[in-house]
Amino acid sequence: MRYVITGGAGFIGSNMSRTLLDQGHEVVVIDNLSTGAIQNIESLVDQPGFCFVNQDVTEAFGVEGQVDRVMHLASPASPADFDRLSLEILAVGSDGTRHCLDLAMAKGARFFLASTSEVYGDPLVHPQPESYFGNVNPVGPRGVYDESKRFAEALTFAYNRRFGLDVRVVRIFNTFGPNMRIDDGRAITNFLWQALTGAPITIYGDGSQTRSFCYVDDEVRGLLALNESNCKGPVNIGSTFEFTLSELADIVLEVTGSSSPIEYLPLPEDDPARRRPDLTLATAELGWEPTVEVREGVARTAQYFRKLLATSDSG
Ligand code: UDP
Repeated sequence: MRYVITGGAGFIGSNMSRTLLDQGHEVVVIDNLSTGAIQNIESLVDQPGFCFVNQDVTEAFGVEGQVDRVMHLASPASPADFDRLSLEILAVGSDGTRHCLDLAMAKGARFFLASTSEVYGDPLVHPQPESYFGNVNPVGPRGVYDESKRFAEALTFAYNRRFGLDVRVVRIFNTFGPNMRIDDGRAITNFLWQALTGAPITIYGDGSQTRSFCYVDDEVRGLLALNESNCKGPVNIGSTFEFTLSELADIVLEVTGSSSPIEYLPLPEDDPARRRPDLTLATAELGWEPTVEVREGVARTAQYFRKLLATSDSG
């Protein structure tokens, strides 16, 4: 099949592109490199069936030839970018999603939306099932991302109802692994580069907030399973390995053998206190579950960041 992947030079998009090429599919990556990186797809450019287009999907765009699947993964996604890229995030969830939906309509392709656990906001229900409508502050600093994705979900289902467009929607929970931006500001990336360079590990708040961390290979396998299933979703895909941020910091220190000290910083506004997906639907519909333990995933990601830091030191 021929896939269009928006955000294909980003973290999850580049891992998905590599998986699809390995499976023998053709992949057109569309990315404006705002938070993605050409290095993430460097090893793919010479592979047959791969093509990269530097394009902002908030502007109308077309793709020549047959397209079977439109995977809309483009968006800045780190809370550290929510202020800096607030308007870009709102635009890619609204105009960007509409352009991708129109492409899928024009090509008779299936449309896939990468939504997020952030649609649940600071959840009052735990773990979070897809039927939970969420607890989002629309005017807070996270509102730009949360509402952008909520709007994208609404738009996707409107196209499905009005035009009969074939759609799939996933809600992605915290995911980590190679091709994350080392300076993206997230907990896993911050903790890892801090541990590897001996800098203090920055815990926001008292470290009692929780997240459930999914290794990217598992996540991509889940997304592709959903895309080829008969279930339009939304479906949660993420890990049920729930840790406090203090526990995560301990794991990172242990796995890297680092003696970085811990530094406590203020908790950002509207930071969700707990997060873990209810995976009943994913298990029943897709037979999917995560397999890579967090320690193992952290070790693999640490190896990737070690290489990256060594290259930037020598460069
Ligand atoms: N966090 C932290 N230290 C950091 C970066 C993040 O303690 O250096 C916390 C953050 O406040 C949140 C959790 O880690 O409670 C996960 O943050 P992240 O940005 O990775 O993702 P989120 O789940 O908030 O989108």
